[in-house]
Amino acid sequence: MTHGRAHSVPPPAIDADLHSHSSVSDGTLSPSAVVRCAHENGVQLFALTDHDHLGGVSEARSEARRLGMGFVCGVEVSVSWAGETVHVVGLRVDPDAPALRAGLAATREGRDQRARAMADSLARAGIDGAYEGALRHASNPALVGRTHFARFLVEQGVCADVRDVFRRYLVEGKPGFVAHRWAALDDAIGWIVAAGGVAVLAHPARYRLDAGALESLIGEFRALGGTAIEVVCGSHTPDDQRRFAAIASRLRLRASRGTDFHGPGESRTGFGRLPALPDELVPVWRDWPEMAHVQATEDAIDP
Ligand code: AMP
Ligand code: MN
Ligand code: MN
Ligand code: MN
Repeated sequence: MTHGRAHSVPPPAIDADLHSHSSVSDGTLSPSAVVRCAHENGVQLFALTDHDHLGGVSEARSEARRLGMGFVCGVEVSVSWAGETVHVVGLRVDPDAPALRAGLAATREGRDQRARAMADSLARAGIDGAYEGALRHASNPALVGRTHFARFLVEQGVCADVRDVFRRYLVEGKPGFVAHRWAALDDAIGWIVAAGGVAVLAHPARYRLDAGALESLIGEFRALGGTAIEVVCGSHTPDDQRRFAAIASRLRLRASRGTDFHGPGESRTGFGRLPALPDELVPVWRDWPEMAHVQATEDAIDP
């Protein structure tokens, strides 16, 4: 009865987790430690997607290989679109592609200056030493960002936890917020596609855009070569999942899934805990060569 399940029961969903961060950007674990954590929790196909940086992918890939886990190189590009910050995940990118590397380097460039301005803003609110404090939490100073400031504010007892920080500080209208111009949407998608990758619109429910603006964003994203959208991710509620599943089906976008892991205890959802993608969607990983390996592992353990 080795093939009995083919007709009756759908095959078990693959645990694909295609969005996570290491200490190369604003995660707390090293690239190899993130991979081990994902593997221990049952992830079978994994992507490291640090913000604007590919520095962790070779370490992560070696560790995934050692553990026999499916792995793809990824990156999460910071984009400014219509005055809002939007994130585009690139999956299966060639980490050596020159245009992607140059584009990411340019996108990172303003972070230090922005961090100094954020610290000045916090100082005006009576919180001193935030620039140095945030840098102490940033393993990679080139990627200093709001999460590192958030960890500093928690360490100082100003806020109870990182989520509390993002309610009271570092967001528009609150101390520590500094508007910033990231990459353009067409550039980000262009770099990813030129690097052989798939452009995925990250956590679409998170953007402060009304339904019409979101529709324009997704339309533009598709027209520029974006082919997938995150439907199941750490920051989506069940309602968000249903809403973006319907949009993915209607617009024939492939669907992605990922925790957006930043570290144990800090992420909303741990590895191995996300719901499956709804059946009617086409997973972004369908037809990927990495799947041959995952499938082979499954068959090997099928009695
Ligand atoms: P930055 O790229 O420096 O603007 O930092 C953005 C990062 O801040 C995101 O990738 C998240 O890790 C974190 N962040 C933003 N908003 C929130 C939130 N509401 N709760 C927790 N983390 C957040
Ligand atoms: Mn982050
Ligand atoms: Mn993001
Ligand atoms: Mn992320």
